[in-house]
Amino acid sequence: MMLPPGAVIGMVGGGQLGRMSAQAAARLGYLVHVFSPEQDGPAAQVAARNTVAAYDDLDALRAFAEAVDVVTFEFENLPAESLALLESLKPVRPGAKILAVSQDRILEKQFLNDAGIATAPWVKVESLEELEAAAARLGLPAVLKTTRLGYDGKGQAMLRASEDLAPAFARLEPKPLVLEGFVDFGAEISVMVARGVDGAIRCFDTVENRHKHHILDMTLAPAPLGPDILQEAQGIARVVAERLKLVGVMGVEMFVTAKGEVVVNEIAPRPHNSGHWTMDACPCGQFEMHIRAVAGLPLPPAVRHSDAVMKNLIGPDDMALWPQILATPGLIVHHYGKTEARPGRKMGHFNRLFPKGALPGELGIEDALGLVE
Ligand code: AMP
Repeated sequence: MMLPPGAVIGMVGGGQLGRMSAQAAARLGYLVHVFSPEQDGPAAQVAARNTVAAYDDLDALRAFAEAVDVVTFEFENLPAESLALLESLKPVRPGAKILAVSQDRILEKQFLNDAGIATAPWVKVESLEELEAAAARLGLPAVLKTTRLGYDGKGQAMLRASEDLAPAFARLEPKPLVLEGFVDFGAEISVMVARGVDGAIRCFDTVENRHKHHILDMTLAPAPLGPDILQEAQGIARVVAERLKLVGVMGVEMFVTAKGEVVVNEIAPRPHNSGHWTMDACPCGQFEMHIRAVAGLPLPPAVRHSDAVMKNLIGPDDMALWPQILATPGLIVHHYGKTEARPGRKMGHFNRLFPKGALPGELGIEDALGLVE
């Protein structure tokens, strides 16, 4: 059923993904009700209604569910009990099964491998002895990760030599951990895929993501890689969305190995930083696509009318450039409304569009962004 204009979309989580989803929802005539522990956060600032409460406050969640027509979320680590309560009261899109899979790196890798999708080789690790055996099997270097609550490179350690094992094992919490073979990748890519209530699937073009200090710095759309790799990534995203019966959008992050193999790193069943380029380079960007899916509306084609470079604005250093960014023609800015620019915090981003096929080459990207004097 299509939600009519005026219906209320419940958004669990109050960050920038919720903010930009709420902005897209407003353009479709919906009201957004944000549930978040934070007063006056990025999403709350632009939402029609707000509940400020903890994610395990079941009374507040019940009242929230009663006040909305459908529930979606912009962050993945909702307690299982809270999610079960919401699902008992209103449609939750995407549903609890996807969340369970994406919240847990082991379930995620098992699901992907069962679907015939390659990941880095991995071993579950519950003790130092198991870690030693796993390191012997996979070889070093390898990456040790928590299975839950990791993001932007947090909750992981690179193991280069045998003396790195014990301190990394002691530091990383919660257990169990997962040891992943090191992927000597040539590029990191991702695909945003959307699936509607009716099962229709739309894939945005495959993009390349470049990180600085483990945080996304820049996205190039489309990824400047061969057509076979771009196609393979799209096929993988489609299979993941179908198998998980996704409703909404999801980011699928992948590595391209030196040999040109595509292996999945992780999935995120929500709008994703590597999809921000779609806001300005596509007639229907990832946030509108997400809201359309959640509201049961038809999904338009995920076509792009332009090539794009997305640049994240992180912490005080990048925000010091804000006046210069505003004065540079052609940069389409998105500020998240956060007051305090702590180091490593995502404060905003900008998109720069190029005619299709005219994405600048390797040496021209920084110049094209206009930030180099
Ligand atoms: P994640 O938290 O899993 O998204 O990882 C954060 C970043 O660490 C990735 O974007 C990669 O740059 C790097 N990384 C993670 N896992 C591996 C791996 N198995 N091999 C090589 N690099 C990795």
